[in-house]
Amino acid sequence: MRAGLSKSEPKRLKDWQDNKVYEQVLKKNEGHKKFVLHDGPPYANGPIHIGHAMNKIAKDMINRYWMMQGCEVPYVPGWDCHGQPIEHKVEEKLGTEKFNQTSTAKIRELCNKFAVENIELQKAGFRRLGVLGDWDNPYLTLYHQHDAADIEVFKAMYDRGMIYRGHKPVHWCKHCHTALAEAEIEYSDETSPSVFVRFEMTSKPAGLENFDGPVDFIIWTTTPWTIPSDQAVSLKPGAAYVAVEHDGRAEVMLEDLAPKCCEEFGWEYTPVMVDGKPYVVPAETLHHIHYKQPIFDGVEGVALLADYVGVDDGTGIVHNSPGHGVDDYFACLKEGITDICMPVDDDGRFYTGEEFGAGGPFSGMDTDEANPHIIEFLRERGTLVLEKKITHSYPHCWRCKHPVLFRATDQWFVSMDKTGLREQAGKEVRENVKWYPAHAANRIGAMVEQRPDWCISRQRNWGVPIPSYTCADCGEKVMNDATLDAVIKLFHEKGSDAWFTDAPESYLGEACVCPKCGGHHLKADKDILDVWWDSGVSWKAVCEYRPELEYPADVYLEGSDQHRGWFQSSLLTSVGANGHAPYKAVVSQGFTLDGQGRKMSKSLGNVIDPNKVCDEMGADIIRLWVASVDTSSDVSIDHEILARTSDAYRRFRNTLRFLLSELEGQFEPETDGVAFAELLPLDKLMVARLTQVQAEVDDAYASYEFPRAYRALYDFVVTELSNVYLDALKDRLYCDKPGSLERRSAQTVLAELFSMLMRDLQPILSYTVDEAMAYAPAGCVDHQKYAALLNWYKSPISVDEANEFEGVLEASLELRSAVTKALEDARSAGTFTKSQQVRVKAVVPAEMYALLTGDKAVDLAEFYIVSDVELTQGEELSVAIEAAEGECCDRCWNYRTTVGEYNGHAHICKRCADAL
Ligand SMILES: [Zn+2]
Ligand SMILES: [Zn+2]
Ligand SMILES: [Zn+2]
Repeated sequence: MRAGLSKSEPKRLKDWQDNKVYEQVLKKNEGHKKFVLHDGPPYANGPIHIGHAMNKIAKDMINRYWMMQGCEVPYVPGWDCHGQPIEHKVEEKLGTEKFNQTSTAKIRELCNKFAVENIELQKAGFRRLGVLGDWDNPYLTLYHQHDAADIEVFKAMYDRGMIYRGHKPVHWCKHCHTALAEAEIEYSDETSPSVFVRFEMTSKPAGLENFDGPVDFIIWTTTPWTIPSDQAVSLKPGAAYVAVEHDGRAEVMLEDLAPKCCEEFGWEYTPVMVDGKPYVVPAETLHHIHYKQPIFDGVEGVALLADYVGVDDGTGIVHNSPGHGVDDYFACLKEGITDICMPVDDDGRFYTGEEFGAGGPFSGMDTDEANPHIIEFLRERGTLVLEKKITHSYPHCWRCKHPVLFRATDQWFVSMDKTGLREQAGKEVRENVKWYPAHAANRIGAMVEQRPDWCISRQRNWGVPIPSYTCADCGEKVMNDATLDAVIKLFHEKGSDAWFTDAPESYLGEACVCPKCGGHHLKADKDILDVWWDSGVSWKAVCEYRPELEYPADVYLEGSDQHRGWFQSSLLTSVGANGHAPYKAVVSQGFTLDGQGRKMSKSLGNVIDPNKVCDEMGADIIRLWVASVDTSSDVSIDHEILARTSDAYRRFRNTLRFLLSELEGQFEPETDGVAFAELLPLDKLMVARLTQVQAEVDDAYASYEFPRAYRALYDFVVTELSNVYLDALKDRLYCDKPGSLERRSAQTVLAELFSMLMRDLQPILSYTVDEAMAYAPAGCVDHQKYAALLNWYKSPISVDEANEFEGVLEASLELRSAVTKALEDARSAGTFTKSQQVRVKAVVPAEMYALLTGDKAVDLAEFYIVSDVELTQGEELSVAIEAAEGECCDRCWNYRTTVGEYNGHAHICKRCADAL
């Protein structure tokens, strides 16, 4: 194959750009029903990878399909521009020290520049893949309009009572200095210290009043650094706890775990005996017993009951630090403990101070650094029972990959339950959105069902600010409709940069007032919105604001990780603001892996770079790969898979070439075409068959099942056309008289095949099909120059009509298999070398006989490329082969009894004589 795609595609792309093909398609379908695939914005960070390529190509296939269906298909690509990763790159470039001295306005300027440069890089990569869209006017989440939409949606949800400010533990990355959302957390294994510690009770529980020695809770934790902020211990409600006697102390643990624990501690398992029976009590007996805080003298903690306490590991008693754990926080809240202790700063270091609430002996230490010091402290005090290491699944920051901690700080949240957001979003997922594949609904449904309140504030520079103010006179937080409207207006005009440069009184006007003290000194707060909010409100900033688009969109398509990310943030903001989902359908795709199912990484050397594949093989090879794999789950790609794809490409290309070789300059469907009723029987059969395949391909595209479309087309082209039908047709094409019904009938079917393949392949092989346009009969391609402008293929007959040929097709193919077998046997026996040399005598059962001789019967000799087929009716199918009658025609190589001399042409058959 000398397709030379890597050279020809860039020229073709330039032609599309110069001649505004995307705009031409919009114009062609102007005023028709719209189809809006709303682009999920990739992050403007670094060059494109194969996952990006798969995403954008799949979108382009969908768009091109609906364009051919006659829909108006505006496609506005977008980029996600704000957020920590870009800010991190800028910090790296400047160095942390210089970064920290740089003004917010300057940092934002540098981030903006970085984003825009990367967008240009990615844009060129996406265009090269052949993706049609409004590349000159994409949407960027840093546009003023987008900034304003962020606040408009915020206001709508704030006014409905969904947004609140709370002090509770959130994931915190001490390296990135910010709170993190669920979607920004990755879990991986981490080795942590696991410690068992005595917490001595300050009063004795019922039944142990007469015990002589001290009574302890034996607690268990894997985060020793949270012990300085310990405020409680949690026990499992209803579970049985036992006291074990050791060294004159009574040690309380879960009864079921106590024997195992004692063994680990090197203790004898000797329960304290009360009235001759082991001391075993329900957790409720221990509820509200106080104990000495293990680090700070004079401070007491209290025993609580909480369902989350595990009964499989540890001692069944967990230490509780509400400032550093969500479960802990809620367990304390239930008991009325609201004075939360949180002694760790933004950098993950203990505050300096000797009192409870600061670091005490560990002041100034980093939490990781403090762990061994705390363990040592407990050991010296004699309260450490056991220390070991465990490996467990632990949350990590998605960007810097460091383990995160929980940290209670003041943050902004979207409440999932206060106004029924969770319920409404779940209802939308189940009832009003179509999911592809269908089981994706369960996945996002479960996530919405289980997720905590959405923490939407971040402590960074590069994003859209949360529009709140603090009164400089009394410290009140100020946010109301008047201030929000002023901010929306400001952002529409000047963008969110203005938040950091303009004084509030300069744009708030009348709204610049503290409702509590009446003061007029409002200070703009510093938190920014979660970047998922930015992309999440694109239904507003893009679909609603851009006149060519529509909200809700017809479809969103992204990787399955977006169930946690963009699919969800879009859903929550749209349901939150307007009560319904932003999309009618969602297609989710798997990840791209290497040929052995491994993640791609530079260190493994298994990265497939789409830019490089375009330069070496051509974009159409990547496009064909995307169509051929089941993207509803994870897909594989490597050089071997691409080589196989390249083989498949060759089959499609050669078929188009063959069809063109019999049509170009020789046939125009409008003047030379034969009506279906007049076609030769074999040709009618083929039209029937292509009609069936077309229906399958159509259905597959409409259901976003690209591999089904690909499979139907590949099997049809390779197994049926190349191996069977096109071969059989060559005799008529090469030897019959030009203009004869026989030849025109054959060409009519080739033209139908060509027209169909051009449409069916256009979404996949966009460059190649466009290349074929130049050689195509005008009537086969709607008199268009560019393939993107084609209308969908329409067969001359209906699927029902086509299905009437099913019986004769099956019978003909069944007999063909038997004939092929007999021919192979004859060939290996050396009896004949070519199929034209034989005549076939076949015995066929009655039903088959009726079909093969009925009104839809085809010329079997032509179909099987033999000299004659003689059918007789019998019990069982059998095939015999004998030598053809007559002689071999020098022109057509068929064996005919009519071979002789005609008009000076020696040794040709009568048909050839007529043709000549
Ligand atoms: Zn981080
Ligand atoms: Zn005030
Ligand atoms: Zn002949």
